[in-house]
Amino acid sequence: MYDITIIGAGVIGNFIARELSKYKLNLTIVEKDNDVSNGTTKANSAIIHGGYDAKPGTNMAEFNSKGNPMFDKVCEELDVPFKRIGSLVLAFDDKDMKSLEELYNRSIENNIPDVEIIDGDRVVDMEPNINGDVKGALYSPTAGIIGVYELAIALAENAIDNGVDLKLNTEVKDIEKTDEGYKIFTNDGEIKSKYIINCAGVYADKINNMVAEESFKILPRRGEYYVLDKSASYITNHVIFQCPNEFGKGVLIAPTVHGNIIVGPNSQELNDDERNQTQTSRDSLEYIKKTALKSIEKIPFNNTITNFSGIRAEPSTGDFIIEELEKAKGFINVAGIKSPGLSSAPAIAQHVVRLVQEISGGLEENLAFNPRRKMIIFSKLSKEEKAELIKKNPRYGRIICRCENITEGEIIDSIRRNAGATTVDGVKKRVRPGAGRCQGSFCGPRVMKILARELNKDMEEIVKDGNKSNILTGKTKS
Ligand SMILES: Cc1cc2nc3c(=O)[nH]c(=O)nc-3n(C[C@H](O)[C@H](O)[C@H](O)COP(=O)(O)OP(=O)(O)OC[C@H]3O[C@@H](n4cnc5c(N)ncnc54)[C@H](O)[C@@H]3O)c2cc1C
Repeated sequence: MYDITIIGAGVIGNFIARELSKYKLNLTIVEKDNDVSNGTTKANSAIIHGGYDAKPGTNMAEFNSKGNPMFDKVCEELDVPFKRIGSLVLAFDDKDMKSLEELYNRSIENNIPDVEIIDGDRVVDMEPNINGDVKGALYSPTAGIIGVYELAIALAENAIDNGVDLKLNTEVKDIEKTDEGYKIFTNDGEIKSKYIINCAGVYADKINNMVAEESFKILPRRGEYYVLDKSASYITNHVIFQCPNEFGKGVLIAPTVHGNIIVGPNSQELNDDERNQTQTSRDSLEYIKKTALKSIEKIPFNNTITNFSGIRAEPSTGDFIIEELEKAKGFINVAGIKSPGLSSAPAIAQHVVRLVQEISGGLEENLAFNPRRKMIIFSKLSKEEKAELIKKNPRYGRIICRCENITEGEIIDSIRRNAGATTVDGVKKRVRPGAGRCQGSFCGPRVMKILARELNKDMEEIVKDGNKSNILTGKTKS
């Protein structure tokens, strides 16, 4: 019997698992997909927001303002890319300037440090490619950008190192209350657990409804993006927002931690049964392009290397829902974690630990907890370190992805690690072959070959992402 079962291996579930692994607990994370970080955590803007935007007094405001300063330490411990590059919200007319004042006042109420309103000249000084019609901007220097799936994967790996079980390909189908806690029915058998933490993202209402009456709904909303090649990186060094609207923070232009530029998202309401519909559409992409060109007039969209979309878990209550259910003791909802959920994740995790402490009457510290997890990124090593590594393992001397300079050694490592990659996109999320300009057209088959060899599978069995996303259908020659 587990003490705690966490449903969902996104950034929220994994942060909570790692935080709880600091205590002597028998923990498991249950994930329906074949990899961690395959839900909303895989596809978002990857911004650690300054925290000025959320309405004061909400959970979103509280956890964003507490979460933002925690990222330096956790990213250092887990070897995750994170840069505090600052953000600018642009104003183009008097109405926008009023919006900036409102955001500035919120920043004071939310206790966000160093936020200021700057004039148009200073904006153009800071970012020369910005539309010269800009009247002013809200500057938030503590905003940052992060490797978002790298973070979720690192959290899972570190949690596993500290004793947490990860059950992939395990979908929760139903839950039953028992005298000792809960019985969780999955496609892969039953799990007994004293407590449950529901971190199921866009499906969190479905999980809630397995143990209690419906008290909220998740209203899925899609956001689509362009990813531009690294050659477009000159267009901005900051995260560039426009003034927020009724659908949220609007279309942004931002660098990524790997040197690309992302442009997006829009906000499109989806039907209840469209929670997994992550396609992109011409109309949405055209809208994003047109809107973004107001911020920077010359965005080289001809350097687009891919598009993607993610689904927001918009809660019907309008705010994060983080609480033990009155009518299902020991069941904690961590639901409706829309933006700024990523920025809030470390603070949410600490809050959930406090809830578990209250519910259980106290937790015993795990003195063996190791906060560190390391990655080898070959291209970042010195010449001497590279030579040393190749001497030890010649596979680090063989480049597989020419766009991103990824070696065979790194790919093998990404597969062999705990919570290791089993799919082409799983390898890409961890070490980036296929994330460059050619989008895997050169290295894709070679990555598949390495996966097949390492996992002892046929090439035909290697999938791109989800379990049914087969790439090869069979042999043309025997
Ligand atoms: C377009 C967009 C832009 C965003 N930009 C930002 C941003 O810049 N900054 C920011 O702070 N936040 C941002 N967010 C919000 C942020 O991405 C989310 O708050 C965060 O990723 C939520 O993580 P999660 O773990 O709750 O959900 P998820 O990552 O979706 O994880 C939930 C997991 O639960 C699993 N699951 C579901 N049902 C079951 C079941 N029955 N059994 C087992 N497993 C199950 C899913 O497969 C999934 O892996 C953005 C969101 C979107 C969509």
